[in-house]
Amino acid sequence: MTGRKRWCGNAEAADFIQVLVRERDPEEGESRSAGLINLLLEKKRGEFPEGLTGHPIDKIGYHGFLTWDLTFDGVRIPKDNIIDEAKAAREDSGEEGEAAKQAGFAEAQKFLNTARVHTAARAVGLARAALEDSILYLQEREQFGHPIGDFQALRFAVAEMAAQIEQARSFYRQVAHLIDLGLPVAKEASMVKLEATEMSVRVTNQAMQLHGGNGYTTERQVERHWRDARLTTIFEGTSEIQKRIISDRLLPRSPLS
Ligand SMILES: Cc1cc2nc3c(=O)[nH]c(=O)nc-3n(C[C@H](O)[C@H](O)[C@H](O)COP(=O)(O)OP(=O)(O)OC[C@H]3O[C@@H](n4cnc5c(N)ncnc54)[C@H](O)[C@@H]3O)c2cc1C
Repeated sequence: MTGRKRWCGNAEAADFIQVLVRERDPEEGESRSAGLINLLLEKKRGEFPEGLTGHPIDKIGYHGFLTWDLTFDGVRIPKDNIIDEAKAAREDSGEEGEAAKQAGFAEAQKFLNTARVHTAARAVGLARAALEDSILYLQEREQFGHPIGDFQALRFAVAEMAAQIEQARSFYRQVAHLIDLGLPVAKEASMVKLEATEMSVRVTNQAMQLHGGNGYTTERQVERHWRDARLTTIFEGTSEIQKRIISDRLLPRSPLS
């Protein structure tokens, strides 16, 4: 395997890296995913195998783990490490060939649905933390002789934050349940990823506002929730890509688009 992968969470600390690679270009009339295979690179924890080098990317948040920019230069992966349940089943039944290889992208997509619900759950967690911090701060901080939590506009802001969080929370739990039932959820996983992460950006932003000047310092946790929430609309597919996935499943695309 030779090439570059910018963005890979935990690459050095991990026991394995799952990589989607191109084995060949698609032929005319084939989908862009033709020729992609999904590989499992097994490695020693805390090291890179021969041929793999990388450096951590200097992120503005999500400091709980390192995210790597990786260069693969002739890294060897055994043939048995192609991740593809469908292929394994076909091999067992003696069937093989190009069709089997094409299942690589479909397999990767299944992981993406789960990852999107997972990201939605993390976004909800960030928003909840920002809300809880805000509720404490509104009781702690006094202005004009009152805790600022007495001011109606701020009380309503809290109510709106809480309602949006609960809505997103119910939605991701529902989609997680559909995944558990083994149902197809590509559209719903994209919907909940879009809604929950955009909600988290709005709510953490509001939480910073409720903290006034103190929100714009590193003395309080709210700046971290705000920075971390900002990532959730970008990784695991941006909000624009989620809208594309959803709209493509609702509206046929003309050859011109
Ligand atoms: C901190 C961090 C950690 C990450 N960790 C991982 C990881 O562990 N593993 C991994 O595989 N990836 C990881 N990523 C990668 C992440 O998933 C991508 O950065 C993300 O999907 C966006 O892709 P891009 O950066 O190439 O943006 P681009 O595709 O260059 O997008 C730039 C802009 O163009 C818009 N855009 C692009 N295409 C379209 C389109 N067709 N229609 C409309 N708008 C479009 C995007 O929405 C965005 O606004 C990580 C990223 C970050 C920032």
